[in-house]
Amino acid sequence: MNLPDLKKARIRTDKEVEYIYLNDHYQKLFSGQKYFLKTYGCQMNVHDSEEIAARLESLGFNKTEVLEEADIVILNTCAIRENAHDKLYGFLGRCKHLKKEKKDVIIGICGCMAQEENVVEEIMNKHQYIDIVFGTHNIYKLQDLIINKKEKQNIEVYSCEGDVYENVPYKRESQVKAWVNIQYGCDKFCTYCIVPYTRGKQRSRKSQEIIKEVEELVKNGYKEVTLLGQNVNAYGKELKDEINFAKLLEEVAKTGIERIRFVTSHPWDFTDEMIEIIAKYDNIMPYIHLPLQSGSSKILKLMGRRYTKEEYLTLYHKIKETIPNVAITTDIIVGFPNETDENFKETLDVVNACQFDSAFTFIYSPREGTPAAKIEDKIPMEVKEERLHKLNELINSYSLKANQKYLGKTVKVLIEGVSEKDNTKVFGYTETMKLVNVDNACDKIGEIIDVKITDAKSFSLDGKI
Ligand code: SF4
Repeated sequence: MNLPDLKKARIRTDKEVEYIYLNDHYQKLFSGQKYFLKTYGCQMNVHDSEEIAARLESLGFNKTEVLEEADIVILNTCAIRENAHDKLYGFLGRCKHLKKEKKDVIIGICGCMAQEENVVEEIMNKHQYIDIVFGTHNIYKLQDLIINKKEKQNIEVYSCEGDVYENVPYKRESQVKAWVNIQYGCDKFCTYCIVPYTRGKQRSRKSQEIIKEVEELVKNGYKEVTLLGQNVNAYGKELKDEINFAKLLEEVAKTGIERIRFVTSHPWDFTDEMIEIIAKYDNIMPYIHLPLQSGSSKILKLMGRRYTKEEYLTLYHKIKETIPNVAITTDIIVGFPNETDENFKETLDVVNACQFDSAFTFIYSPREGTPAAKIEDKIPMEVKEERLHKLNELINSYSLKANQKYLGKTVKVLIEGVSEKDNTKVFGYTETMKLVNVDNACDKIGEIIDVKITDAKSFSLDGKI
């Protein structure tokens, strides 16, 4: 896998400055040593981990999947849900054991949890064997933090938003598809969400830099890019003289990359112009993740989502009517404080009206520091669990129905790799983001091929060439 030039990264501040983050002197200091990197949470974290991996490899570390072999362990954490903390604490037990066995191992924590108020102190007090902590805004200092680690713990978490980085090194997980950050942070401040506090306010990259990155990926043989941000369709709003997201999509489409996806979009920022551009370009995939969160306008208001049930439905139908064969998926939270049975029924009604291709569903859990955490939550857990169960049954029935429409059809699939469960099969995704397992196509990895669908389940399709 090719690593980009690690010598320089430019950080865009008010005045464009050159920042040399890596001296030749530091390179290969840890030659032959191994790193173990574990990622929790969303695609943003997955992509951050690609940067962390590149920075570790620039120092000479090689990747290992075996914790016990590691000379440095980095845990890239998530703060979105309460159980993310529990999962991390569970894994820290193994790290503590490793530290006892291997005194020189470096244990590091980064990501959104490291950025949460009071959490760093709590972690460091409880887990004194942790050596380094860094936040979401200063990944670029990782090499320095490792090099400077002496006897004591090395903590550097910036409370400010951070800058926009350009020429960031990534060790991309795939040679077929790539994540491309187009913005960082979020300005929406939905009342339940910790992201604006852990990742800061919205900062968009310049469109020329994004296009340059995509052109480079095309040159290197990548077939697909996913434009990444917490709220991609608000792209550029805080920048003077920058194009909007619809125009950015169009510019990316003109680079000739074969497939373009984007995630996540907010219904409030979804414009008619965007819908038209998606419909116009064949290389912008007909797949949209459009978080609903609740089907009750009362709950949506409490969530600070800025749209009503009716506005969501209008947008949904406009997208369905304008973009041929589009697949739409969603996110739904159940058991938000004050959600009555009637409000929950409204969510089920919207699901019935939209018949989503699939959905990520969650039970609400308060995140400390958010406005929603201050609302008294009187809904018993059994009620929340029952609502989630009902919702999942309904969603799964529509997922199956949506997948069954593919039976007997021939669709284009980008083959990504060998199936983990069965090495005689490969897996890939349709244009509409349906997972397909394909027989006897191991020589087709990295290609977009025609696949005939032979079986449909709720979560995947089977097919053959
Ligand atoms: S749009 Fe709302 S839910 Fe999404 S990241 Fe921003 S604040 Fe969080």
